[in-house]
Parts: sequence; C-alpha cells; structure tokens
Amino acid sequence: DGAGGVGRDGEFLGFVEPEPELLPVLAIVGRPNVGKSALVNRILGRREAVVEDVPGVTRDRVSYPAEWAGRRFTLVDTGGWEPDARGIDASVADQAEIAVELCDAVLFVVDSRVGPTATDERVVQLLRRTDRPVFLVANKVDDAAQEPAAAVLWSLGLGEPRPVSALHGRGVADLLDDVLKALPERSAVAKPQLDGPRRVAILGRPNVGKSSLLNKAAGEERVVVNDLAGTTRDPVDEQVEIAGRVWTFVDTAGIRRRVHLQQGADFYASLRTAAALEKAEVAVVVLDVTESISDQDLRIIDLVLESGRALVLAFNKWDLLDDDRRRYLEREIEQDLAHVAWAPRVNISARTGRHLEKLVPALEAALESWDTRIPTAKFNAFVAELAQEHPHPLRGGKQPRILFGTQVQNRPPTFVLFTSGFLDPGYRRFIQRRLRERYGFEGSPIQINVRVRE
Ligand code: GDP
Ligand code: GDP
Repeated sequence: DGAGGVGRDGEFLGFVEPEPELLPVLAIVGRPNVGKSALVNRILGRREAVVEDVPGVTRDRVSYPAEWAGRRFTLVDTGGWEPDARGIDASVADQAEIAVELCDAVLFVVDSRVGPTATDERVVQLLRRTDRPVFLVANKVDDAAQEPAAAVLWSLGLGEPRPVSALHGRGVADLLDDVLKALPERSAVAKPQLDGPRRVAILGRPNVGKSSLLNKAAGEERVVVNDLAGTTRDPVDEQVEIAGRVWTFVDTAGIRRRVHLQQGADFYASLRTAAALEKAEVAVVVLDVTESISDQDLRIIDLVLESGRALVLAFNKWDLLDDDRRRYLEREIEQDLAHVAWAPRVNISARTGRHLEKLVPALEAALESWDTRIPTAKFNAFVAELAQEHPHPLRGGKQPRILFGTQVQNRPPTFVLFTSGFLDPGYRRFIQRRLRERYGFEGSPIQINVRVRE
C-alpha cells in the first residue's frame, strides 16, 4: 500500500500514512471478565489470553498499534484497570468516560451469557451521551445456538447487539469491517505533534519565586505570537523566549494572580497544579534553597509524577545560599529526592538571573527523553539480555519469564511486558533501573506494565 520500507530495527521509514498520533483510536470498554482481553488479542492476532497485573496505584490505559484489512488504527484496552475503593461500578464507569473522551469509536463488550447487569446499564448511560459511534458487542456467542442470548441485549438501548466469540473468532471480522467504516481516516481526538512552542508549567509552593522566575525569563522578550505556527492562544498562557527558543508557559495567569487563600489553600493549589500539568508537557518545579524541602514540595513533585509529564527541578534563590546551608541542602536532596534522581537540576537565582539560561538544555533533555520511542526489536534484545544476565528469582519452583516486550506509548515512555508469571516488585525495579542505565531517560518518568499470560 505504498507505506515506506521497513528499517533495520523494524521501524517504518518514510510514512505516507498519517503519523501514528493521528491514527483513529478504537477503545474497548466493559466489565471485568466479559472478554475484553480475548477480543484485544483476537484483533491484534495473538493467541494467548492475557490478564492484567497493574502495579500499585497506576491505572493506565494501554494502546496498541493495530491493523485490519490494510487499515491501521490504535486500539486502546481499558481492561487492565483495577477496581478501586469505590467498587467495580465506579471504576468501570470511569474507564468508559475516559475512553469515550480519548477515542473515535467504542466497542462496548457485554457478556451475553450473563446478560445486562447494573454496571452495564451505568456504562450505557455514559455512552448514550457521546456522539462517537458505539458498537455493542455481545461476546461469548460461540455458536448459532447462543444467538438468542445476544438478542436480549437489545434491551440496553444501544442498538443492534453484535454477536461475537472473541475466543473462537466468530463474528469478529464482520464487526471490525463495520467498525472501520465508522472510524474516521484521521483521528479527531489524537493530538497531533505541534510545531509550536513546547508547553512548560512552572510549579512550586507559594514564595519559592515562580513569578520572579517568570518575570525574569520573560523580561523584555515577551513574544507576540500571532504568527507562530501551531500555537493555540490561551489567554492564561504566555509565550516566552529564553536563549533563542520560544516556550509556552502554561497557566501563567495563575502564577501572576497572587491569591492568598486561607482555608483549603492546599486543595486549590493542587487543583491549579493539576490543571497546569494537564496542559503542559514538562514541569519546572521550583524549590527555595533557603528552606528545607517540605511535604508540600514533595506533594507537588508527586503530582508531576502522577501526570506522567517530564520534570526539571529548579533550585532558586541560589544567591542566598551559604556554605552551611548548602551542605545541608545536598543531604536533603539525597534523602528526599532520591526517587526523582533522574530529573535534571538547575541552580538559579530568579533575582539576579543567574544560570536561567541553563533551564533550556534541561527542558530540552527532559522533553527528548519524554518523546523517546524505542523500536520493539531493540527493546526485546535489551530484555533478553537482562533476563540472561539476571533471571527472575525462582518462586515456588517456577520462574516467571518475560516472553515479549514493547513500548506502547511515549510521552512518557510506557512499556508492556508479557510474562509467564507475576513479576516481583524488586524485579520490576531492577528492570526500571537498567532501562535508565541503558537509555538515560533523563527528566522523564517511565512506566512498565506487566501482563501475565493466563
Ligand atoms: P476481560 O476481563 O474483560 O478482559 O475478560 P477476559 O478476556 O480475560 O475473559 C474472561 C473469561 O471469559 C476468560 O476465561 C475467557 O477465556 C472467557 N472468554 C472470553 N471470550 C470468550 C468467548 O468468546 N467465549 C467463551 N466461551 N469464553 C470467553
Ligand atoms: P511565588 O509565590 O512562587 O511566585 O514567589 P515570588 O516570585 O513572588 O517570590 C517570593 C519572594 O522571594 C519575593 O520577595 C521575591 O523577591 C523573592 N525571590 C524570588 N526569587 C528570588 C531569588 O532568586 N533570590 C532572592 N534573594 N529572592 C528571591
């Protein structure tokens, strides 16, 4: 179909198709056990069923490059989400809500052998509100005798139930043919790679020097940007040029407006931080070197980690630092910031302008890491090397093996490992550490999800 050659590492060269980011997105939602994983595997053409092993609090959707009848699209599997404390209902509803926002069409999977449940009804309410095409998939119709069970699902009010057997493949081809007709050529939701300035959030607790930094950086050079390509103007953002490069500093209105809230200040501050992060690609967390690293500083850094954005740490008020405090600060950094040792650090003074220009290489390095894509062949070679050098410890006489791995997303780099058993947390950390040793990822969080073969 004229899509360029395949490179040494299995990468495509010379795309004539839309950039991967612009491929239409198909999301799969539904309760646990209805057969979402089975359907994902069927669509991706893999045999083995997989179950999700989600580390701790991380709830991420996983997306796969998929292809059907010569058309490429992105398949988003929401199946791995663990129900949280609010119960299965709420988390399945969350899934559906997010999926709908992030996709161009939805496959809503229901177990025809169980029939519609209260959770299904709740998802239906959400799906009714969207203008995206929704396909009601009646799964586990393994043969014609079971078709009447699918028909019962008309009662959900989502139109015609599509009887399929994810396990045996029955009906899946017809379903996908229709789905492709409903999918747009180019995604309406996937974010294009903008040519415009990259988006930076300046974060930090009150009085660390955020607005001073912004003012000093902007200086005389605040840019008028009507003619900058790819720039979406938002009145609360500001375009700033530092050392010859233009950046969009997001939500600067929030920094300049110095509201001093009494009650609930923390709560509103973290809301604002979260909102700025949502729009940003990289965060500069500003710390005041004259004061100890506080819980509030650490909470802000946690919000950045949760958001998956790139991170740069700016130690401000360097002009006020004496030798004693400096030694103490170094110890604090070692103790409190060990978990973000990968973030570039710049020592600046927003008052004197000291080393402000060093922000630029730090931001660039962090964004480059954040954007990184490692080709699957290279990543698997790396994983194989790891496993050979340091195999997973035996557990109950068995040894979990990594069968295959792939980077499913960048921004931030997100990897999925398919394994033959659950991996110990220590082994996961080992893999993380080695990934950083090999590829650096300076300034970017990385995420590793593990999927265990049933
Ligand atoms: P998920 O939790 O929604 O991802 O569901 P899974 O894909 O893990 O499937 C849950 C269970 O249903 C597994 O035991 C599957 O083997 C089974 N299953 C999935 N699809 C089908 C199907 O089409 N027919 C039958 N009979 N069983 C299925
Ligand atoms: P924000 O609340 O984080 O926006 O902090 P501000 O920018 O308003 O700064 C709080 C106070 O710290 C102000 O009095 C600033 O003048 C002072 N300040 C900010 N940066 C520096 C710096 O690099 N050196 C010194 N000595 N003072 C600074």
